[in-house]
Amino acid sequence: MERTWHKQLPAADLLVQGGRVVDPGTGVDAVQDVLIAEGKVAQLGKGLVAPAGARVVDAAGMLVLPGLVDLHAHFRTPGREDEEDLATVSAAAAAGGYVAAFGMANTDPVTDSAGLLRGLARQAEQDALVPLGFYAAVTRGLCGEQLTEMGELGAAGAVGFSDDGCALPTAAITRRALQYAKVSGRFVAVHAEDGSLHEGGQMHEGPASARLGLTGIPSLCESLDVARALDIAAYEDASVHVCHVSSEDSLRTIAKAKEAGVRVTAEVTPHHLTLVDEQVASFDPNFKMNPPLRAERDRRALVEALRSGLVDCVATDHAPHSPEEKDAPFEEAPFGVVGLETAFSVLYGALVVSGEIPLATLVTRMSSAPARIAGLQAPAVAAGAVADLCVVDPQAVWTVTAAGLRSRSHNSPWLGRELTGKVRLTVAAGRVAWDDLA
Ligand SMILES: [Zn+2]
Ligand SMILES: [Zn+2]
Repeated sequence: MERTWHKQLPAADLLVQGGRVVDPGTGVDAVQDVLIAEGKVAQLGKGLVAPAGARVVDAAGMLVLPGLVDLHAHFRTPGREDEEDLATVSAAAAAGGYVAAFGMANTDPVTDSAGLLRGLARQAEQDALVPLGFYAAVTRGLCGEQLTEMGELGAAGAVGFSDDGCALPTAAITRRALQYAKVSGRFVAVHAEDGSLHEGGQMHEGPASARLGLTGIPSLCESLDVARALDIAAYEDASVHVCHVSSEDSLRTIAKAKEAGVRVTAEVTPHHLTLVDEQVASFDPNFKMNPPLRAERDRRALVEALRSGLVDCVATDHAPHSPEEKDAPFEEAPFGVVGLETAFSVLYGALVVSGEIPLATLVTRMSSAPARIAGLQAPAVAAGAVADLCVVDPQAVWTVTAAGLRSRSHNSPWLGRELTGKVRLTVAAGRVAWDDLA
């Protein structure tokens, strides 16, 4: 069953020479040449010779990694093509080293019918540089009342079900969603939030919100709803995925559920792993997201959870916003930041270079782990596999600028900042999707 779609570019014939191949799935961490023929990894070894007509890429000093997979992005299509469309979001994904990305259903109209989902798939076949897939809504119009036709949507290729952007309002809806998703062989991705504790909130509730005079969103707002979803998943023996975990309290709940054998997976974003509530003091709307940036102790707990595997994967929650909407006073600006093009560099610099997380662990959490949750073959730099890989220059230092981003929107908290490690080449589904080497 197809879960992603992309346009048919010419298959790659490449010899990637002398890079350090790091593939935790096969256990390889060694300098190797990688020969790609007709879009497949044909051979790994030393001193490989390029066949006639194949391009040779000098990857000396670079990393050759399995391609990244993003379980959680917002494509803004249909409805807000002024902010992003499938061409721009897939270009951004490719530039970030991604070989697949999945879009949430809070589009306009909402992705809540099989017809709409099939239409998006056809559009991806026209426009997408890397394979894209789609969530279907849990409830019609994201209204939290009537369930969608989950069987039909699963058959149309929905990767999973989510009302992301909104929480599921009641235990009864959550329960029925998990029951139907289980029958259709899919998971439900939960945006955990207790609406009564979120109302009017601008940032994490703590000393910083008190000092800045902004309305706080307590971490309890998330952890209470996580606990409810996991209790229901346990009761129904159904699969649930917790989106953008942000607090230590939620991690404790997830740990307990995993110990008890509940079928739960969880993701964390690059911004929650590297930024904290104190940074809101700038009143820069690019530090406003939902869930909000939390306290330093939460951030440290998230990093440890990513290292240990308590949190299964990194997801960007790439959320493009137009400048007209985002360049507003902090209180009025919408929640969300873009992230596809900076995710690997941000985490490589902040967590790998600093020694907090081994490179192989980061690669697993950004590649094979999310691929498995999505039901995709895990990307591998191994003979016989479809070429789904990226080449990263770990020494490159680059500055994030609006003009340098492929995304149509530029609402990044890293604008103007220097990042370490740059994706130079991405081969997705056997096609060169990003080339910053030429
Ligand atoms: Zn969300
Ligand atoms: Zn989201």
